[in-house]
Amino acid sequence: MSKKDKITNKYIHIQGLVQGVGFRPYIYRLACRYNLNGWVENSNDGVFIKAEGKTKVIEKFISAIQLEAPQASNITSIQTDDIPLEKFSEFSIIKSENKSDDITEVSPDISVCKECIEDLKTQPHRIEYPFINCTNCGPRFTIIKDLPYDREMTSMAPFKMCNICNGEYTDILDRRFHAQPVACNTCGPQYSLIINNEIIEDFNLILNLTAQYLKEGKILAIKGMGGFHLACDATNQHAVERLRNLKNRDGKPFAVMCRNIKALKEISSPTSEEIDLLTSWRKPIVLLKNSRKLAPGVSMGFDSVGVMLPYMPFHFQLFENLTLNTIVLTSGNISDEPIIINNEEAIKQFSEITDAILTYNRDIHNRTDDSVAFVTNKKHRLIRRSRGYVPNPVHLNLNTEGIFATGAELVNCFALGKGKQAILSQHIGDLKNLETLEFYSESIERFKKLFRLKPTLIAHDLHPDYLSTKYALEQNIIPKIAIQHHHAHIASCMAEHKLDEAVIGVAFDGVGLGNDHKIWGGEFFICDLAKYERITYFDYVKMPGGDQATKNPWRMAVSYLHKFYGRKFDWNNMEFLKNIPEFELNLILDMLDKNLNCPETSSCGRLFDAVSALVNLCTKASFHAEAPMRLEAAINLETDDHYKFTMNDSIGLKLCFDEILTDLNKGISQGFISTKFHNTIINIIFAVADKLKSERGINKVVLSGGSFQNRYLLEKTENLLSRKGFKVYSHLNTPSNDGSLALGQLAIAAKLREQNDIDY
Ligand code: ZN
Ligand code: ZN
Ligand code: FE
Repeated sequence: MSKKDKITNKYIHIQGLVQGVGFRPYIYRLACRYNLNGWVENSNDGVFIKAEGKTKVIEKFISAIQLEAPQASNITSIQTDDIPLEKFSEFSIIKSENKSDDITEVSPDISVCKECIEDLKTQPHRIEYPFINCTNCGPRFTIIKDLPYDREMTSMAPFKMCNICNGEYTDILDRRFHAQPVACNTCGPQYSLIINNEIIEDFNLILNLTAQYLKEGKILAIKGMGGFHLACDATNQHAVERLRNLKNRDGKPFAVMCRNIKALKEISSPTSEEIDLLTSWRKPIVLLKNSRKLAPGVSMGFDSVGVMLPYMPFHFQLFENLTLNTIVLTSGNISDEPIIINNEEAIKQFSEITDAILTYNRDIHNRTDDSVAFVTNKKHRLIRRSRGYVPNPVHLNLNTEGIFATGAELVNCFALGKGKQAILSQHIGDLKNLETLEFYSESIERFKKLFRLKPTLIAHDLHPDYLSTKYALEQNIIPKIAIQHHHAHIASCMAEHKLDEAVIGVAFDGVGLGNDHKIWGGEFFICDLAKYERITYFDYVKMPGGDQATKNPWRMAVSYLHKFYGRKFDWNNMEFLKNIPEFELNLILDMLDKNLNCPETSSCGRLFDAVSALVNLCTKASFHAEAPMRLEAAINLETDDHYKFTMNDSIGLKLCFDEILTDLNKGISQGFISTKFHNTIINIIFAVADKLKSERGINKVVLSGGSFQNRYLLEKTENLLSRKGFKVYSHLNTPSNDGSLALGQLAIAAKLREQNDIDY
């Protein structure tokens, strides 16, 4: 008998995203196909298998595990050990055991699969059943309370399986074998529609009325996977305006859901990479160029739109009953509060302001917004990492165990370290909002429980007033490390790319506290994970009124002009000041003259604000980053022209402003000025990187910070630097904005601890 024909017994340990994705039944079916005996077991530390059979067959089985794994799984390692023969008589699945505290990954929520959509028409007990799911699809993170991932640990616990469902759940050959949320018309959760305090429970009637209401231009609150949405006809300007008013949301574009790709092509022209992203099982909102045929109130003057495709069974059923191809589906909240997940709360908040509330009787345990993504240079990028992504960890080359990073304040997300993983929370939001702060502390407790983590080290932002810093300081955990905001930005991108060496870091964003107590935001570093050296930055300019300047970009334009030309500048000649009352202008000029409440900043975001206001595109911002977004949207031509700048200790923009004023006087278009201005920033990045490369011999450039959500800036910077021989790193699986700050804080803290030097 050859060695390969010898009967052996192997103990196989699989780690990665293998829980909640139908992995055990998958292994079972595979083992049956290869005629192997033994068992498979789910534990907190991954999946364990004992496989007994011919050596060569076991080898084939192990390679098949990788090749045929369920789409939402992600295997990070497979370890095998030879063990003594046990003479198993069959292959079986053994019950979950809470083996150790080394838990593995929890699956994100998975969009409903094709087979389930087909089953809606054919399976007698699931005809039109809107909560259909199987081992390959359905809710996961949003319904989970604790590990191991079993029905009792989810918000499906109150629903007792009927005999038919139980039969499928226990039949190894069934696609619903061990699918924890399995349910049907007899035994599972149900929708109800509330109109004027009347509750409708007949599902056909619910579907018809929902479709009819949308068609009639009415507004509905609809319970989704991770929270409520507000919905209306995306082509009905009246409905869209009404929705905007009731959300108190001035100018921020709404996301829409489109029936399918064919319908989507009528309103936009997605690239193949964008289609891949739209149709992936994660189903994020994807920012696309063009928004033809939609009501102007959806995109608010932007020539782009955030689109997602149906991902819950109900979405598909709704479009089947709907003549509309596109509906607005925006987060179900008022202003900047967290999206509502609770039925009673939804009824309280939405009854008065919407025409109907569509809800269901299964709880959402973990609030999860829709994720937001875009494509630049053919690569998928994230702006908001939530549904479909969380809680997939980011894998690092550092031991992060026990580190808790509290994140930023405005676009918060926190992170916990487990082994060599960073587990990033879902998008939390602006902590200055009381409800969001509650969501923050509640989510931290849940993550600690879910991932069995007792923090032994806290990393937080340097800013003492951030609510995330205050939260860190209140915790009974020592030590604590305060980490500079922009160093954390660069470290977050380095962590994503597993970089652990000196790099040229370009951190461009709105604001973050610097170590000179000034407000940074346009920074060039030489840094590694443990330390940073600030090389240069946009020369300081005053922010009249601090945060108020952020909401009033015209103040930043005035500040730049005042800096370069003094009070005697001919203000009357400026188009962008036409709607600003003279006393307000004088007040700001007085503040600048006397240096009253004028913190200094090197912020790139405030520089973009200034130029956006100066060319009269956006003088007052109705939402975060509106002015830079409008400036980017104005780009309308192909040119490499740029304005002049100077490089000394800091980067001087006097020549740039001289030229912009000349162009304005000549009546040159906003689009042309915007393009040249963007090109100027790109050329500044190249000039600084080039100088550092020749002085320090460093060739790797890391781009991070919210300004790199600007697609033109990101694309052209990457292309120019790559063309000039640099290795460029930008965010792909994490956002470039403050949503990744916790990841950077975590990576820096891990590195400092590794070096036994937590005095940052
Ligand atoms: Zn399915
Ligand atoms: Zn059932
Ligand atoms: Fe930032």
